[in-house]
Amino acid sequence: MTDLFMNTYHRLPVTFVKGEGAWLSDVNGNHYLDFTAGIAVNCLGHGYPALVKAISAQAARINHVSNYYQSDVSLAFAEKLVAACAPAGMQKVFLANSGAEANEGACKIARKYSFKKYGGGRHRIVTLKGSFHGRTITTLAATGQEKFHQNFGPFTEGFLFVPPGDIDALDRALDPSSVAGLLMEPVQGESGIIPQEEAYIKAAARFCADRDILLMFDEIQCGVGRTGTFLAGEAYGVKPDVVTLAKGLSGGVPVGTVLGGKKTADVFEVGDHGSTFGGNPLAAAAGLVVLDTVQKPQFLQEIRRKGDKIQEILRSWNHPKIREIRGRGLMIGVDITVEAWPVLEASLAQGLLILSAGTHTLRFLPPYIISDNEIGQALNILQQVL
Ligand SMILES: *Cc1c(COP(=O)(O)O)cnc(C)c1O
Repeated sequence: MTDLFMNTYHRLPVTFVKGEGAWLSDVNGNHYLDFTAGIAVNCLGHGYPALVKAISAQAARINHVSNYYQSDVSLAFAEKLVAACAPAGMQKVFLANSGAEANEGACKIARKYSFKKYGGGRHRIVTLKGSFHGRTITTLAATGQEKFHQNFGPFTEGFLFVPPGDIDALDRALDPSSVAGLLMEPVQGESGIIPQEEAYIKAAARFCADRDILLMFDEIQCGVGRTGTFLAGEAYGVKPDVVTLAKGLSGGVPVGTVLGGKKTADVFEVGDHGSTFGGNPLAAAAGLVVLDTVQKPQFLQEIRRKGDKIQEILRSWNHPKIREIRGRGLMIGVDITVEAWPVLEASLAQGLLILSAGTHTLRFLPPYIISDNEIGQALNILQQVL
């Protein structure tokens, strides 16, 4: 059956049919503890009752409305999402379906903002080495990892990369005569869970504000509560001009959003951008449940507590194969001295699902609803495997 799929993924030999809470079951009735949440997507776990109810009820009501008209549930979702991102200065949203599509929208906003104000030539977008921004030609161009740049050129022009953490290099790269925007993940996901230094983010925000370069946060993996604040950028106390969200925002239903603030909310005009499925009522109904749940201070505090607990347990092992433990909230990367993939496979065989990032980093993105008991179980398995 796998021969039917184009050969894009290195898939493990397990077929899931059902999920409940932090657990998944395969076709043979085996159970697995989920420390991946579908790569930060199933943030409320599997079969979360309010989410199931909202999606089912919406499916029975109406499940697509074209962009010729309006949808009550998309409007309610947009209102709640913009309110959730208002502390970061966000005022309006464009609804799409995936992370890459959201970042494409952000790049278009940066280009147009600059073009309208300064004319052509100021079209460059700076991104970070090690970043991941998506798989379309433009978002691949934005992705600061060589391995993604083979075979698919020519790419969209105008992206340049800076080493994360190097404030001088950033200062030089953010040339106000040629650069429209800076796109960055406050906590890099695919490259191994790398939170940016506060001084770096603060400097980036200052350079961008002084030079009228748009500061754009890709919070597709680190947003929606993952790090213990609704937006990961909140922890740095800076206000971006654009935020992109996707993955966990609708708890498992495809979604992607671009949010804009004072400078950017009105950059797009009628006819500038669009998306057939964007604002889909099923995704919106699901997103409302995620927003209602995740935004509660008590819920966010639990994410931080559980994340700290995982890191504490990992550190307490003093394990000779663990080199470094990083992360915020329930977004944790562990550098190990051995290859990550065999650890992944051995964990799977023991009933634990984990992710890797690169060759020597384990990545944990458990659902927010994971219990202390389940954390203990998962880490016991991992300790044995290591
Ligand atoms: C996953 C991811 C994307 C791409 O999202 P898709 O929905 O796969 O297009 C972009 N940026 C970051 C930070 C991501 O983690």
